[in-house]
Amino acid sequence: MSRIRGKDTKPEMLVRKFLHGRGFRYKLYDTSLPGKPDLVLPKYKAVINVHGCFWHGHEGCRYSKLPETRKEWWRQKIEKTKANDRKNMETLEAAGWKVLTVWECDLKADAEERLERLRKSILGGH
Ligand SMILES: [Zn+2]
Repeated sequence: MSRIRGKDTKPEMLVRKFLHGRGFRYKLYDTSLPGKPDLVLPKYKAVINVHGCFWHGHEGCRYSKLPETRKEWWRQKIEKTKANDRKNMETLEAAGWKVLTVWECDLKADAEERLERLRKSILGGH
């Protein structure tokens, strides 16, 4: 189900396992940074957020479809999350951090390919 949220979600575990296996070291949920990013890689001055498509309102994604019941309530809730995400990203970028977002659906479609791209982004490319 794509509506589970919180710490240690399956997509996050995939990302952690991949990076750890390739020698990257990271901190989890660093409370000193805005939005408490899922992973922080101080050495590369990079943060990674692994976003659930539903909770973070992935635009144009089939997993972000709102339930028919209490639709307006959900819409507002998710808009608020998105606004927070944007604000945190801007604050981090302004402080010189590289902010990388991995969507849950990308990991469902082709995790290997997505994680490889993530690795390259951490190392320098955009
Ligand atoms: Zn998605």
